[in-house]
Amino acid sequence: MKKFSIAIHGGAGTILKSNMTSEKEAAYRSALKTALGLGQDVLKNEGTALDAVEQAVRYMEDCPLFNAGRGSVYNALGGHEMDAAFMDGNGMNAGAVAAIRNIKNPISLARKIMEQSEHVFLVGDGAMEFARMHGLDFVEDDYFHNEHRYQQWQRIKDSARFQLDHSEEQKDKKFGTVGAVALDSYGNIAAATSTGGMTNKKFGRVGDSPIIGVGTYANNETCAISCTGSGEYFMRNVVAYDVSCLMEYKGLSLEAAAHEVIHDKLKKIGGGGGLIAVDALGNISMPFNTKGMYRAFALSDGQWGIGIYNDPINIMQ
Ligand code: ASP
Repeated sequence: MKKFSIAIHGGAGTILKSNMTSEKEAAYRSALKTALGLGQDVLKNEGTALDAVEQAVRYMEDCPLFNAGRGSVYNALGGHEMDAAFMDGNGMNAGAVAAIRNIKNPISLARKIMEQSEHVFLVGDGAMEFARMHGLDFVEDDYFHNEHRYQQWQRIKDSARFQLDHSEEQKDKKFGTVGAVALDSYGNIAAATSTGGMTNKKFGRVGDSPIIGVGTYANNETCAISCTGSGEYFMRNVVAYDVSCLMEYKGLSLEAAAHEVIHDKLKKIGGGGGLIAVDALGNISMPFNTKGMYRAFALSDGQWGIGIYNDPINIMQ
């Protein structure tokens, strides 16, 4: 079997074992395992990295545990606006959407824009019109209702604060975006990211996730990346492209480049979060500077693992 790799994330943040019930942890592990398995099956069957990342992300968009698709957080108007991006490292084609509503799987819309339009980035009503023309699934507003996230929003909706998704205690340190990166047996890499953004974000606010080179990037010559964290900081640091540049111009390894950006450059300006990355050799890196990051990986040699907290992943075979 030819070499392949896949990594996924379900957001980073103040994720502490002490705040987690065993049921909740089991639910996250099981969702990550299923999403990983879907991507892995595509790659095992010699499918493309594009299909693998799309399948993994679609599953997480449909799962209310994550802040993307169905589980998207509430914005300041009590609605849901989603962002997503998709990038093919082979030829560096890309598609992205921002501030879209009522689309069941934003990641598939981003891919459609990549494959069937002359553009890279469509937002709001224009993106939704494109979705209608291409037969994407639409859902009603109540599809996105989630009592837990509604209460999250109720607690801060009358303030000017906006917050990330995954931590109750430190309310400004929670991120629940989902993403996937993969290398397929043809040597191509791809990246996909999808998010509901941040609780109580302003109507029209766009995060880092859909911005090519910031929250999402793929280039066969360097790496494929999907980020999660405080988008405003990721944008100012052009995080994903910075990792790629450190590899391209400075000759750093994937691990060294990703580590430098997350633990040094981003941290210095106060940015919290992490990323998942794969290179064309199949190496994987998943650094984060928060307490935890929902993450998982699988390689063609049979190794795989799931991590949540800030401890090494128990590698399974
Ligand atoms: N990066 C996302 C944003 O700022 C949030 C997240 O990672 O959960 O929209």
